[in-house]
Amino acid sequence: MQKNDIIELDITAMSSEGSGIGRYEGLAVFVPMTALGDKLRVKILKVKSNCAFGKIEEIITPSNSRVESDCEVFSKCGGCVFRHISYSEELKIKQQRVEDAVKRIGCVDKPSNEIVSNLKINGYRNKAQYPISADCSVGFFANHSHRIIPCQNCNLQPEEFSKISAVLTEWMKKSGNTPYTEETGKGLIRHLYIRKAFATGQIMVCLVINGNSLKYENELVLALKELLGEKLKTVVLNINKNKTNVILSDKCKTIFGDGYIYDTLCDTKIRINPLSFYQVNRDMAELLYKKAEEYVNPKDKTVLDLYCGAGTIGLSMAKKAKKIIGVEIIPEAISDAKFNAENNNIQNAEFICGDAKEAANKLAQKGIKPDAVIVDPPRKGCSAELLNIIAKDFCPKTLVYVSCDPATLARDIKILTELGYALKEYTPFDLFPRTSHVETVALMTR
Ligand code: SAH
Repeated sequence: MQKNDIIELDITAMSSEGSGIGRYEGLAVFVPMTALGDKLRVKILKVKSNCAFGKIEEIITPSNSRVESDCEVFSKCGGCVFRHISYSEELKIKQQRVEDAVKRIGCVDKPSNEIVSNLKINGYRNKAQYPISADCSVGFFANHSHRIIPCQNCNLQPEEFSKISAVLTEWMKKSGNTPYTEETGKGLIRHLYIRKAFATGQIMVCLVINGNSLKYENELVLALKELLGEKLKTVVLNINKNKTNVILSDKCKTIFGDGYIYDTLCDTKIRINPLSFYQVNRDMAELLYKKAEEYVNPKDKTVLDLYCGAGTIGLSMAKKAKKIIGVEIIPEAISDAKFNAENNNIQNAEFICGDAKEAANKLAQKGIKPDAVIVDPPRKGCSAELLNIIAKDFCPKTLVYVSCDPATLARDIKILTELGYALKEYTPFDLFPRTSHVETVALMTR
């Protein structure tokens, strides 16, 4: 097989990124935007020793699960990968992906509970971070690239977000605030970052800027107020003068409101600042946290909540538990967590700012023995050292693992199995319909 060859291919599997996979002369060929059961003519774009990549030249026989995509930039922007198949097919693929990872990487042959499907497959995101293009329009980065694809009306977002984007574009053009260009490091406005608290309707608008201030700042605030009225809770500048592709710096300057928005989650009032992590799908996060609570069974227990962000998971079960100890590395998130405990009259929660492994080590040295440990790490998962401390020093009966990456979850399940834990059950949650992402909560016991 060579580049530019045209081959016939049946799609028989799906990759973790949502590409279809077919086999040709023993080689796996990855073709994006395809569906299980498609019969295709495929143009080969790249051949490697162990696999090849191609694109659809012609659909000979479409899969039964195909549907018409309803998005203009589907396949161009790096967001959705499943707009061309039915939602039920997407759920099957996601559940399979988690099960395959647990079996192949985790070496545990146990089927998952049924994936918890989404209440809403569009308009569920409460957060967006848009790069700004040279003509001041907002968009998204193309897949695996920093090319900006202009897009105002993303289906995954609430309707206010596109209106805010339009206001920003108009204000930039009028006020002479320039868009930032990554290649040159010149220009002012890097990103538009919006968050909406779905339970209260409050909106935060944050501009990430390569400078200290804006020209005609008041005019922007006025235009946003006129658009959003009372819903506009705060406007914040994030000062990021670094030549990096990390979106946010740790420096924020509030130009309207108090710098926070307030949501409710699992009957808990939650304050969040721009730097705190907050699940982008609030309604589904409630279901996920309820499952975590069921697995933890917090009654009269001391629960260690590692990677706690603004304290959301631990606080949601604090009233039933004996004590909650949260650990998180971002200071602003810890300050939200402490505020959230107080604001909800929760007196049995303590929060520690620091690296999960180091904080766990210190707690172990003090002789703390949690009855249950929750971990909710970023995509890279937990370090083997942290898992060792959990299993050998804390040795809780219950370990609940909330994961946004099936592969690292499965890797850590394997390590924990070797350390004396057994995977009791696990439940995938579809927090991000139409994208390739899937969340899982797993219960491990000693
Ligand atoms: N449990 C929270 C946050 C989960 S996201 C929620 O459900 O909202 C993962 C969190 O881990 C982020 O808040 C991130 O800042 C934090 N984090 C990343 N690396 C860390 C580390 N080494 N030690 C502690 N926290 C870390």
